[in-house]
Amino acid sequence: MHIYPNAKAVVRALAPDEPVILNRPHAARRAARFFVEKFPGKVLYAVKANPAPDLIEVLWDAGVTHYDVASIAEVRLVRGVLPEANLCFMHPIKTAKAIAEAYHQHGVKTFSLDTVEELEKIVEACRDPETGDPAADLRLCVRLRVSSEYSELSLAAKFGCDLLEAPGLLQQARQHCDWLGVCFHVGSQAMTPFAFVQALDRTRAAIAEASVVIDMIDVGGGFPSAYPGMEPPPLEDYFAMIAKHFEALPIAYNAELWCEPGRALCAEYSSMIVQVNKRRADELYINDGAYGALYDAAHVAWRYPVRALADNLRDPEIDFAFYGPTCDDADFMQGPFPLPSDIQAGDYIEIGMLGAYGAAMKTGFNGFGDAECVVVADEPMMSLFDGSRVREASDNVVSLR
Ligand SMILES: *Cc1c(COP(=O)(O)O)cnc(C)c1O
Repeated sequence: MHIYPNAKAVVRALAPDEPVILNRPHAARRAARFFVEKFPGKVLYAVKANPAPDLIEVLWDAGVTHYDVASIAEVRLVRGVLPEANLCFMHPIKTAKAIAEAYHQHGVKTFSLDTVEELEKIVEACRDPETGDPAADLRLCVRLRVSSEYSELSLAAKFGCDLLEAPGLLQQARQHCDWLGVCFHVGSQAMTPFAFVQALDRTRAAIAEASVVIDMIDVGGGFPSAYPGMEPPPLEDYFAMIAKHFEALPIAYNAELWCEPGRALCAEYSSMIVQVNKRRADELYINDGAYGALYDAAHVAWRYPVRALADNLRDPEIDFAFYGPTCDDADFMQGPFPLPSDIQAGDYIEIGMLGAYGAAMKTGFNGFGDAECVVVADEPMMSLFDGSRVREASDNVVSLR
């Protein structure tokens, strides 16, 4: 496999007129090692953030053995790449067929749920097809609804049972498994560790009320990456807060602690080269957009770091907005994206930090969406793991009492 030194070398070699995804396996490996070594529990990778098989192999080689999958297609994909991986089906709404295939054909034992209906569906789908006996090895995980108020992207509305329902559901689930967990998701890109403290407080209330034995606490994803205007406190602060509040929970003495990062493990994995097809004042028409890897830039005004890839551009930077390639007005990214003021049609731009919810979001709408993938050796445009961020106690941490 050819490894290019950086984006400029890719432009020189390919002069691409379609977007090119630049992958950095070394960055994903470094993020995975950081989590595996420093998180005080087990680290699952949330596959939806980026299901690229090459990435999944890198994470496995770096020590990530458990995978959070949310659809039967993700179950099959990860099982195909990693025959030995431990797969956990963490979408609280599954079809009976998907549950049965996951359990009987792919060895999936861990399932999340947030209703009694889903609990019954899981128990039925996992019965022995010959004897009708219930499965003795189910590992169930009750999803609790928690606040997303400290996160950039909410996951609070759709899934999770509330504090009134949780105790009863925990008691019922306990009757069908020898291993019972509680899981939640604080929302993506949680900008302070306090998000997890609040969620763990809620978890404590649910467990105390249910008074059942809990074998596992899964604090979900939400661990941040770095983007322009969004530089989070050190991840070590998150880990320390989680460890402290986990230890104070009324749970089995040997209970496990899990997390399921998506974004934090793969944001640094990819960037993308795009070409400017037209300039209109401070708007650049580029060849990827809202239906491509820039979905979040268009739909939730997410900002990504950018740089021009030509050596001849010298003018001071001004703020640009982008239009994508489709014929749709909604294919618009407000940015701001600071680039040299003399940039023009034909020039190339590298857009960074697209490894999570970027490269994975590309569609073929309107005939656009093809992108070659290449490997590059340089550093991601921003990083939480390259040692550039000095470890210091952060002001951003809200300490409790
Ligand atoms: C999306 C998702 C994750 C990953 O979230 P990030 O914010 O990318 O870390 C983890 N767990 C579940 C259940 C999810 O839906």
